Amino acid sequence: MKKRLGFYVDAKRCIGCYTCAMACKNQYHQVNGVVWRDIYDLKEELFPHRERAFYSLACNHCENPTCLEVCPVVAYYKRDDGVVVHEQEKCIGCGNCIRSCPYGAPRYNPVEKRAEKCSLCWQRLDADLLPACVLSCPTDALQLIDLATFDEPNAVQFPPGYPRMRRLNPSTRFRMAEMPKIYRREDV
Ligand code: SF4
Ligand code: SF4
Repeated sequence: MKKRLGFYVDAKRCIGCYTCAMACKNQYHQVNGVVWRDIYDLKEELFPHRERAFYSLACNHCENPTCLEVCPVVAYYKRDDGVVVHEQEKCIGCGNCIRSCPYGAPRYNPVEKRAEKCSLCWQRLDADLLPACVLSCPTDALQLIDLATFDEPNAVQFPPGYPRMRRLNPSTRFRMAEMPKIYRREDV
């Protein structure tokens, strides 16, 4: 299988600290109100426990990206390693990609009046560095993976609460949060 980079989101390890989202913001200086990576608190029907669980999400660098298909000025391209790149200087801010991505990954920059999104830090990858979010995570809950070699038997592509878009074939994989085991004393 051809190289295909993506993120591994380990909801069992994630503590919802926002370090990854802030590392992304620091790396790219996104304007006020715009984030490329965000943390999503799993709703009670998905994780019914007072200690919450989280997904850290950004662009999924899909195999068949709809953002790329709908862009009228070819501002998107896919690299050989699977990274979906948005070239902001080509963007005319029409919003097609923002409306069409079921994962809400492209965001509108009101200052530039153009779209933008997670680049999987391709410039850092080309310099043999990890993406800023992955490097910053204190619990290793966010990892860079290559689906050509990724072999994690417990990983899932479409966990509860995450849109099941098979045609896009997103490159993010997840490990689900587990409810804590409950032990009861037998003598009470
Ligand atoms: S998640 Fe959305 S923006 Fe990212 S590659 Fe897929 S369709 Fe494009
Ligand atoms: S830095 Fe790691 S633990 Fe913190 S929110 Fe991001 S993925 Fe979760």
